[in-house]
Amino acid sequence: MNPQSNLLEHIAMERQTSWRAGGVVRFGYAPSSEKDLALFLKSKSRPGLPLFFVGLGSNLLIRDGGLEALVVFTHRGLSEMLVSGDNRGKLFYASAGVALPKLARFSANMGFEGAEFMAGIPGSVGGGLAMNAGCYGSEIWDCVERVRTITSDGEIKERSPSEYTIQYRKVSQKYEQKEFFVGGWFRFNPGDKKKSRDKIRELLKRRVKEQPLSKPNSGSVFRNPEGNFAAQLIENSGLKGLHRGAALVSDKHANFIINTGGATAKNIEDLILEVQEVVELNSGVKLKREVHIMGDHC
Ligand SMILES: Cc1cc2nc3c(=O)[nH]c(=O)nc-3n(C[C@H](O)[C@H](O)[C@H](O)COP(=O)(O)OP(=O)(O)OC[C@H]3O[C@@H](n4cnc5c(N)ncnc54)[C@H](O)[C@@H]3O)c2cc1C
Repeated sequence: MNPQSNLLEHIAMERQTSWRAGGVVRFGYAPSSEKDLALFLKSKSRPGLPLFFVGLGSNLLIRDGGLEALVVFTHRGLSEMLVSGDNRGKLFYASAGVALPKLARFSANMGFEGAEFMAGIPGSVGGGLAMNAGCYGSEIWDCVERVRTITSDGEIKERSPSEYTIQYRKVSQKYEQKEFFVGGWFRFNPGDKKKSRDKIRELLKRRVKEQPLSKPNSGSVFRNPEGNFAAQLIENSGLKGLHRGAALVSDKHANFIINTGGATAKNIEDLILEVQEVVELNSGVKLKREVHIMGDHC
C-alpha cells in the first residue's frame, strides 16, 4: 500500500468542523489504520509542514486565511474498539477516531458503567483526551488507564496518566517531544445495561432541552471560571442575541455561539472577542476560551 494515496491537498475546514465555518488546510492525511499512519509519518516524502491532529472538529475553528499545515484526520481510519482483561477486570480500548458517544454506547451495551457522560459529547476519543472532555461531574481522564501516542516521526508509545498534567479542559504532556493520541485504554466498572442506557437517554434529553443543537456550533465557547458559569456571566452582560454577521450568541445557552448560515471564521472570532471584552468590563472576569482557534487571518 502506498501511504501517500490518502494524502489530500486544500481541505475546506467548513466541512470538517461542527461550526461549519473556516478556511482551508494545506495538506490532510486520512490514515486507514494506525500502521498506515506510522508508515506515512516515517516516509521521507511527506510534506514537511507543522503537524496537527483533528478528530471530529467539534471544538475547533480555522481562520478564513487557512492553515499551512499537515493535518491528520483520525475519524475514519482510527476506528478500532475492543475489550480485553487484566487482573483488575476489563479494559476498553478505543482508537483516537472513535466518536465518544459510540464508546459510551459500547460500554453500556457490554454492561459497564462510567462512560455514559460521553454520550452527548460530539467529539472523538483523541479530541476528548486532548481537551479532557467532560460534563455533569465526570471527565474522560477519570477513566483512563493508559494512552497510545505517536510522534511526528511515526513512533508509537504507551503513556500513563502520570505523564500528563490534567486540568479542567486542558491537558499538557510532561515529556518533551510532541506526541499525538492514537488511542486510549479505559477502565469502566461492571454495572447494569438497562441503567446505563436509561442514564444515556436522560443525559441526551437534558442536552436537547438546554442546548441550541439545531444550528452549527462548537459547544461551550468559554471555560467556566472558578466558582462561576461563563453562560451566566454572558447572560448577565445582556449579550444573548448579539451577532457579528451570521454568528450569534445563542438565546437558549449564552455560552454557545451558533452559525445561523454562512458565518465566517472572522464573524465568530470577532464575536468571541467582543463577548470577552464586555464580560470583563461588566464583571471583571476575563473569560478563557475553550475552543481552539488556529490559522491565518485573511
Ligand atoms: C453540541 C456540542 C456539545 C459539546 N459538549 C461538550 C461537553 O459537554 N463537554 C466537553 O468537554 N466538550 C463538549 N463539546 C466540545 C467538544 O465536543 C469536545 O471538546 C471534544 O472532546 C472535541 O473532540 P474533537 O474530536 O471534535 O476534537 P477537535 O475539535 O477535532 O480538536 C480539538 C483539539 O484537540 C486536538 N486533537 C484532536 N484529536 C487529537 C489527537 N488524536 N491527538 C492530539 N490532539 C488531538 C486538536 O488538534 C484540537 O486542538 C461540545 C461540542 C459541541 C458541538
